[in-house]
Amino acid sequence: MFDNLSDKLNAVFKKLKGRGTLTEKNIEEGLKQVRLALLEADVNYRVAKKVISDIKERALGQDVMDSLTPGQQIVKIVYDEFTTMMGDEHEALNFGGATPASIMLVGLQGSGKTTTAGKLALFLRKNGRKPYLVPVDVYRPAAIEQLQKLGSQIGVPVFPSTAQMAPVDICTEAVRSAINEGCDTLLIDTAGRLHIDEELMAELEAIKKSIKPSEILLVADAMTGQDAVNIAESFDKRLNLGGVILSKMDGDARGGAALSIKAVTGKPLKFIGVGEKTTALEPFYPDRMASRILG
Ligand code: GDP
Repeated sequence: MFDNLSDKLNAVFKKLKGRGTLTEKNIEEGLKQVRLALLEADVNYRVAKKVISDIKERALGQDVMDSLTPGQQIVKIVYDEFTTMMGDEHEALNFGGATPASIMLVGLQGSGKTTTAGKLALFLRKNGRKPYLVPVDVYRPAAIEQLQKLGSQIGVPVFPSTAQMAPVDICTEAVRSAINEGCDTLLIDTAGRLHIDEELMAELEAIKKSIKPSEILLVADAMTGQDAVNIAESFDKRLNLGGVILSKMDGDARGGAALSIKAVTGKPLKFIGVGEKTTALEPFYPDRMASRILG
């Protein structure tokens, strides 16, 4: 995760730290390298440009050049700006609105939605909530089976959806069922398609209207880089997302989606998926991620 970016940035900072004093030219040259490293990490072009101009303003505006440790000052400024770019604070899940709470997971087929539903159920249970899994992908019976299997593996009840049921009916019945089971949080694993299409969006909007979820989270594949960011923009336009979960961060050597998604869409990255196991889900903390990137 972020290996290439980390290596490149460390090389730039090593050079800057190695100098006793810095000139404006040294800083400009260093920031040019940082910008290149961000673009190679597949960070959105506009985001990279903005973050570099913010860093430059602070680096040249402050007494960096006169300070005793100019290189370290620059690293601190870059750390602060990276943290801000990723959203500053960790944003917790929203359980507000109707009781029981419901979280709708949306995303393209193969993005990791079903796996993430299982991971999130386990995470919620560890945090004292009583999750209830709801498979809604009636077009792919294998997806329903996959969630049922995951549920029994982690000991979380699953609504017995069938391929014959309509998605909205599943969700409204599942709310009653969850209450009967003594559960307080529905995790709705919606259908995905290979591409965004009108039919899918209309179905998701109908579910949203009928159950008024506490929040809608997009699950996107981090390995698709800027495509994940574009997908987030499209889903957000129609559904008003509460946030994003990036899956497969363990396989993403570049990190461009994680770095850009908040700055481009305005929606926070709430969790990252870091493996196939049900425990491989981490809440996303912008400051910790910035530290990780800057080594
Ligand atoms: P869905 O079609 O969106 O429901 O996607 P699935 O949940 O079926 O996931 C598709 C594939 O991605 C499966 O092989 C999962 O094991 C894998 N997957 C999901 N999340 C992660 C992750 O965080 N890391 C890795 N390495 N694989 C993941």
